[in-house]
Amino acid sequence: MKFLSTLARSVRVSGVGLHSGRRSEVVLAPAGPNHGIVFYRSDKDVFIPALAENAGHFDHATTLGERGGEVGTVEHLLSAATGAGVSNLLVEVDGPELPILDGSSTPWLEAFRQAGLVRQGPVAAFTPARPIVVTGAGGKRIELKPARELRVSYSIDFPNPVIGRQTLSLVISPENYARHVAPARTFGFLAEYETLKAHGLARGATAENCIVVGDDRVENGDLRFPDEFVRHKILDLLGDLALVGVPITGHIVATRGGHALHAALARRLREELAASGASMESEALSYARPQTR
Ligand SMILES: [Zn+2]
Repeated sequence: MKFLSTLARSVRVSGVGLHSGRRSEVVLAPAGPNHGIVFYRSDKDVFIPALAENAGHFDHATTLGERGGEVGTVEHLLSAATGAGVSNLLVEVDGPELPILDGSSTPWLEAFRQAGLVRQGPVAAFTPARPIVVTGAGGKRIELKPARELRVSYSIDFPNPVIGRQTLSLVISPENYARHVAPARTFGFLAEYETLKAHGLARGATAENCIVVGDDRVENGDLRFPDEFVRHKILDLLGDLALVGVPITGHIVATRGGHALHAALARRLREELAASGASMESEALSYARPQTR
């Protein structure tokens, strides 16, 4: 049995966005049982529910909302929420991108720990009646098979020999998530850095917030795990799966996925959920603006 949960109190997190390079301040606040995870752009007075239909573009990160009022690089916070079982949360942010922090989701878990979690009652996790497959170019494929627990088996195969082929299969419990997934940092290729910057991406990237992958070595110190790259892919997938809006179970087998394909799976699951007759109602029109702090 899964439980809905939220934070016991509000907690602040601030830092620089990976792509925008802009500093932003985030307040993670408790929310009611049917609230879901909702972002609030305080500088624009816009609410953006963390649901697959609001996922806009996936250029090296997952962005929610319409241009001008969007929130970018949401996946590491959402992943921490999935991993820790936090299903109701108001995320107030004063700019267009969440802070990247150390490039992993451990600082978000740490913020949840600081705030404390409260249970809001049991919830039946959703698992599809039959396997669901989504595919993309270049052999990308994700399959979700019905199961009573959430397990992720992820395989990646990069031409860069520093990464190469990596495969990992894990049952996602809060304990396994915190230990084996959350610390895995995002990564970028040194060879692509200038091009990304020219396209307005990676402007906040530093040796302190991502693994810098060179042609034949990691350029900035030791990895946290020998297979940190595939662990980060699992982290990203769990973040994008939060966009289903309800806890899910099943065995997810992913080969060379990415944010766009992860979100395609989340959209398919939203459709399955609607077809199953589950209530898709949210309190979308009644989100309360954060109290002045
Ligand atoms: Zn990531």
